[in-house]
Amino acid sequence: MSKLSNVTTSIFTVMSKMAAEYNAINLSQGFPNFPVDERLTDIVARLSKEDVHQYTPMAGYPLLMNKIAALTQSSYKRTIKPDLELLVTAGATQGIFTSILALVKENDEVIILDPSYDSYESPVLLCKAKPVRVPLNDDYTPNWETIEKACSAKSRMIIINNPHNPTGKILNEADFLQLEKILSKYPDIIVLSDEVYEYITFEEKHISAHTKSFLLDRCIMVSSFGKSFHITGWKIGYTIAPEYLMKEIKKVHQFLVFSVNSISQFAISEYLDVVDANLLGKFYQEKRDYFQKLLKNSKFELKPCEGTYFQVASYANISDEDDVTFCKNLIINHGVAAIPISTFYSDHKDQKLIRFCFAKDDFTLESAAKKLCDI
Ligand code: PMP
Ligand code: GLN
Repeated sequence: MSKLSNVTTSIFTVMSKMAAEYNAINLSQGFPNFPVDERLTDIVARLSKEDVHQYTPMAGYPLLMNKIAALTQSSYKRTIKPDLELLVTAGATQGIFTSILALVKENDEVIILDPSYDSYESPVLLCKAKPVRVPLNDDYTPNWETIEKACSAKSRMIIINNPHNPTGKILNEADFLQLEKILSKYPDIIVLSDEVYEYITFEEKHISAHTKSFLLDRCIMVSSFGKSFHITGWKIGYTIAPEYLMKEIKKVHQFLVFSVNSISQFAISEYLDVVDANLLGKFYQEKRDYFQKLLKNSKFELKPCEGTYFQVASYANISDEDDVTFCKNLIINHGVAAIPISTFYSDHKDQKLIRFCFAKDDFTLESAAKKLCDI
C-alpha cells in the first residue's frame, strides 16, 4: 500500500518535461534562466581547488551560519544564536520536510492554506497527521475567521507562505494582528513561515515573521538561497527556529542528510560579503513590469503581483478548457509553458488561471510574450 496514494509527479516536473519535449519557452517551473552573478561563480572556481570538499559540521559551516545570523540582523533587526537556532538545509524543501517530520505527531492537525505550494501536505501525511486546508479569500488574502474556526486542541501547526506562491500575495500588518489573536488562544500551535521569496517584494515591503515578537518563540522560518541568489539548482537554504524546536529539527536533519553540500556553503559564506539581497526586489519588479507591459495587448488578464517571480493570468477570454488542458495545449500549439493554478488547490478547483514565471532574461520574456499576444 502506498504511503502517499494521492501523490503524483509534481506539476513542475510534468510541465518542464513537456516544455523540453516540444521545445517550448519554459515559463512554468520557477527558476531563473539568466547567468549567475560572476562574483559567485568566481568564488566557486577558486574554492573548488581549496580544502572545501569534506563534511561540514552537521548544522552548517560555522562561518556561513554567522553570516546568515548577520543577514537576519541587518534585514530584520533580529538577533539569533546561530549555534542553537539555525540550520543550513538542502533547499527550503528540506527545511520544511524536516521541521514537519520533527514536530508534528500522529493525529495532529496542520492548517495549510488553499491554494498552497505543493511540498507541505506530504510530510504531514507521512507523520500520520491531518492536513486541514483552509481556502484563501478570492483576492488571496487569508480568511482569518475561517482559519480560527479550523483551529482546535488538535491543531499543531499553521503553515504560512509569505510572499505567496503561486499568487504573489504578501501578508500585511493586519494579517499578523489576526494571527497573533488566534495564537493567543491556542498556545500549542506553532507556525511554519515559508519565506523563500522574502527579498522579492515590490511596492509593499515584506513583513517577515522575524519582526513579530509574538512569533519568535513559536515560529520556524524557512528560506532559500536558490531564490535569493538565482541558484535554484544548488538546493541550499536555511531554517531558523527557537532552540527548543531547533533541537528536535536537528535530530531529524542529522539522519536525513547529516549535513549540506560543503562547497556551496563555503561559497555563499563569501558571497554574502559582497551581495546585497535587498536589491532583489527592484531587480524583479523591473522584470514584472516589463512582462506585464509585453502582455498588455494580449487576451490574458493579469492579476496583481505583490511579490515572488510569478504572474497569475486568467485565460477566460481565450478558452473554456480546464487549466491543465489549456497549459498542455499552450505548449503544443503556442510554444509557451505555464503552470495551471488548479494544481495548488486541494480540490483542483479550475478557475481558468495559469502561472507564468518571469525570472527570465528579456529576450525570453519578449519571445514568450510575442507568442502569447498572438493567441
Ligand atoms: N517554498 C516555496 C513557496 C517555493 O516556491 C519553493 C521553490 N520554488 C520552495 C519552498 C522550495 O525551495 P528550494 O528550492 O530551496 O527547496
Ligand atoms: N518552487 C518552484 C515553483 O514553484 C518549483 C520547484 C520544484 O520544481 N519542485 O515553480
